[in-house]
Amino acid sequence: MRAMSFELRDRDLLGRIGRLRTKSGTVETPAFMPVVNPVSQAIPPRRMMEEFGCDILITNAYIFRKHFGDMLDLEIHRFLDYNGVVATDSGAYQILVYGEVEASQEEIIEFQKRMGSDIAVILDIPTGWDVPRSKVEWTVEETLRRAEAAIPLIEGDEALWVGPVQGGTHLDLVERSAKAIASMPYQIHALGSPTEVMESYRFPILVDMIMVAKRNLPPERPLHLFGAGHPMVFSLAIALGCDMFDSAAYALYARDGRYLTPHGTKRLKSLSYLPCSCPVCRRRDAEELRGMLKGERVRLLSEHNLHVTMSEIDTVKQAIAEGALWELMEDRCRGHPALASALRGLYKYRDDLERGSPSYKGRGLFFFDSGCLARPEITRHIKRLEEQYLPSVTKGKLLLILAPERRPFNKAQQYARLKRNMEEGLDQASRDFHVCFYAPPFGVIPIELAETYPLSQFETAEPLDRETLEFASDSVARYVAKSSHKEVVIYSGKGTLDVLVESKCREACQEKGKELSVVSDLKPWGSEAMERLVNALRG
Ligand SMILES: [Zn+2]
Repeated sequence: MRAMSFELRDRDLLGRIGRLRTKSGTVETPAFMPVVNPVSQAIPPRRMMEEFGCDILITNAYIFRKHFGDMLDLEIHRFLDYNGVVATDSGAYQILVYGEVEASQEEIIEFQKRMGSDIAVILDIPTGWDVPRSKVEWTVEETLRRAEAAIPLIEGDEALWVGPVQGGTHLDLVERSAKAIASMPYQIHALGSPTEVMESYRFPILVDMIMVAKRNLPPERPLHLFGAGHPMVFSLAIALGCDMFDSAAYALYARDGRYLTPHGTKRLKSLSYLPCSCPVCRRRDAEELRGMLKGERVRLLSEHNLHVTMSEIDTVKQAIAEGALWELMEDRCRGHPALASALRGLYKYRDDLERGSPSYKGRGLFFFDSGCLARPEITRHIKRLEEQYLPSVTKGKLLLILAPERRPFNKAQQYARLKRNMEEGLDQASRDFHVCFYAPPFGVIPIELAETYPLSQFETAEPLDRETLEFASDSVARYVAKSSHKEVVIYSGKGTLDVLVESKCREACQEKGKELSVVSDLKPWGSEAMERLVNALRG
């Protein structure tokens, strides 16, 4: 096998922009590989590269062997008239569809070497969909056995070899499969059989499958998601660490009159307009496209579908480069309720997402609702507060103040007035308190951190939903419980968040034997409320 070269350039969430070197050239990831049928090519590969920007494609070694195996010159780049990177699949998909193939793993491996594939796959056994657990176990063990047996056959080969992960929706078996294949010298891994999961819109389980595989595979090896070709899933899958995709969906959907968009699929027959800026859609309207002869219509629809697919990959890359992958993923996940559920399901993987994300982004954070609670900025803030920040605080009292209207909170006019009042009304001894603001979604924001990123640069959609307010108030109460202060003073309004913060902190203080006083007012920034606070602090 070829020495591995996969260099990472940029990252956001678990998504990354990388450069994968193969013997025929370097491919930037995330990359989409259109499936090219060697027997009938809807769009010639050369055009794919020149007009669509596909510098990598995938074709099927098994089908190629079946139809053209007797040819003298089997070199696949010449056969396809394509000088980009060619990946080959082994026929495993045909096993999934037809139950078996008429070739041994040795023959398929040898054939891929003769074809000059740049990226090649062993003849694994796809798990498939809706099969008994005993069968799933067998696909996992047989794939591992074949992966082990393939190692001496591919030693010294110039291609990059893919070690597939099977297990389907059985997460413990995905884990077993990923751990075992991770210990073998494959340069790329691929997660098998998600196609049916995606077609039945079971995106939450897809998230679990990817995350279990990802956690157990070496991070320095690219991860390919087999058979994923709908642009609406790219941002999510890439955010979870998938680097490569392959699919024939662009062509298959076209045959069926389906028009891809980054937010979902539409039927050509029900389109009044063509909402796309690709050359196909700019040159004609929906009526014209519908009126064409079938062959021409399918060809043009395939072209549109491929344009949209390639363009979405670039959109995701740009989002990674500017640190906006979460926002993009959120937008795409609103395209279907099942994707929105998957987005919510990310909460349990928040630590994984946080580890991958850069700590500073040159842009403010927009927070819409509880669907965003897994955002790495929030996870990181709460972790930092509870693990590193709290122990260093030594002031006598904790003064929790509701967030002023302007950011940064410590520079807000409302807080400046309150501060003046406290300075004028209190002697040195009564001023021994640590000021923290509380604000959703972050919870506690200590005054010293108010000007740091992203606490100085975030906007929330008001009013926030109950789940976000619960989340923020829980986080405040946890902070209060963990802090070393014996006395806590809350200065608040009368809103839902204020009420939640008060009741949860009261519970925490009771449990920890802390003294709590609360000054809450309908007009928290009025003189009267401020005076009450000064009195409370004096006492
Ligand atoms: Zn188009």
